[in-house]
Amino acid sequence: MTMTTIAILCVGDELLDGRISDQNARHLTAASQNRPWKIVEIRTVGDDQQQICDALRALGAAQVVVVSGGLGPTDDDVTRRAAARFGGVNLVEDPSVLKQLKRRFADRKRTFSENNRRQAQFPQHCTILPTEVGTAAGFRMKRDDTDYYFFPGVPSEFRWFTDTYLPGATEANQQYRKRLFFFGRGESDLESALGDIPRRAEEQGIKIGFRADLPLLEIALSGDDEDDGRYLERRIRATIGPWLVAEDDESFSARTGRRLIEDSATVCVAESCTAGLLGAKLTEASGSSRYFEEGYLTYANRAKERLLGVDTDILESHGAVSPQVAAQMALGARERSGATYALAVSGIAGPTGGTPQKPVGTVDFALATPEGVLVRRDHYLGRNRHQVRLLSVHRALALLLWRLEDRLIGEHRVYGPFDDDEVRQGIDVDVTSH
Ligand code: ATP
Ligand code: MG
Repeated sequence: MTMTTIAILCVGDELLDGRISDQNARHLTAASQNRPWKIVEIRTVGDDQQQICDALRALGAAQVVVVSGGLGPTDDDVTRRAAARFGGVNLVEDPSVLKQLKRRFADRKRTFSENNRRQAQFPQHCTILPTEVGTAAGFRMKRDDTDYYFFPGVPSEFRWFTDTYLPGATEANQQYRKRLFFFGRGESDLESALGDIPRRAEEQGIKIGFRADLPLLEIALSGDDEDDGRYLERRIRATIGPWLVAEDDESFSARTGRRLIEDSATVCVAESCTAGLLGAKLTEASGSSRYFEEGYLTYANRAKERLLGVDTDILESHGAVSPQVAAQMALGARERSGATYALAVSGIAGPTGGTPQKPVGTVDFALATPEGVLVRRDHYLGRNRHQVRLLSVHRALALLLWRLEDRLIGEHRVYGPFDDDEVRQGIDVDVTSH
């Protein structure tokens, strides 16, 4: 497979002064994962002709340079002038683009000002790339051996232009593509568990990409040879398969929902520190009313007692963040809702509220099933409030998914199943930090 080398130039003062963060280079780099593109450099410059010219020259080592932004009608949009200067040509007006622009303004009952004319001007001899999604057309020009593409900066427009005009954008270039998502082990940990797999992948011409999207880790595989790809995929599954939570376009929550539907099962939630986030996650996929029964948002101790029937003395003796209380929350929710499964979360999201015995980031989980209740304690040390809650939601979901897929064994530290009486008498859980 021949790869096209691509350099990206983002133009815009707002990208340099913190007003916005880049989406366009990010889109191209993400898209390059499964296209015959190798991104070799990314630069960002302000709305400044000289800087743009310098950057265009400097990036010319790539086969393709993609320029984002600065094609608008206002004075600060200088990319088209910089392009003309770089090419040593004049800007000339294109009558058909001008006509289109005027028609578009008329259709929308907007007045066409002289400024807007600028969007019909292009460097002489360039190839105009008409738009179907906005006002600004793009253009392409060749210099030496490099193709320069100029696209509008509005992210939705930029995406349309890259997908429409860049060579290889629509090529079904790869026989084999796979995306695997993992939860519950750190990135470096997973990478080291993979051992020589990434090196082997490279030798066999399979591209392997890692992307951390807290709290999931994505591994993307792509290549020309389906057999080689599947072989590597099997090796990956054999080593880190137990932490798999999603594949390809089916999300973690959608997969969980599908498993529930396959089992004709339903779920309800009892949430303390996640305060509704888990219910939201479980209902992300359309059609979730088929498996999501109800949720209890029991933040205060009183709510845990009143809505879920948690024992006052257990709350007092063990504290709200304890395996016992999480277990009682799950049991109470399951009993009241009639759902097949109930997930409960109770933890200390911080930054305040920690103690030496239960530091911030201590979270107890329980999953009530027809066979009894399973519990687990996690310590998310050094995490902020947002991260603790995010990790908790994913951990709870993982407990359910892995249970549905009969994978809650071995690698996943879970205690139980306990029955109602055992929970009341105080379950014995080894809660050492991990
Ligand atoms: P327009 O015709 O809308 O002015 P343009 O080609 O001149 O388009 P810009 O003026 O650079 O593009 O940007 C248009 C909008 O897109 C602005 O809101 C800008 O903040 C945003 N934008 C530009 N570049 C990026 C980028 N790399 N990532 C995210 N947003 C961007
Ligand atoms: Mg603009």
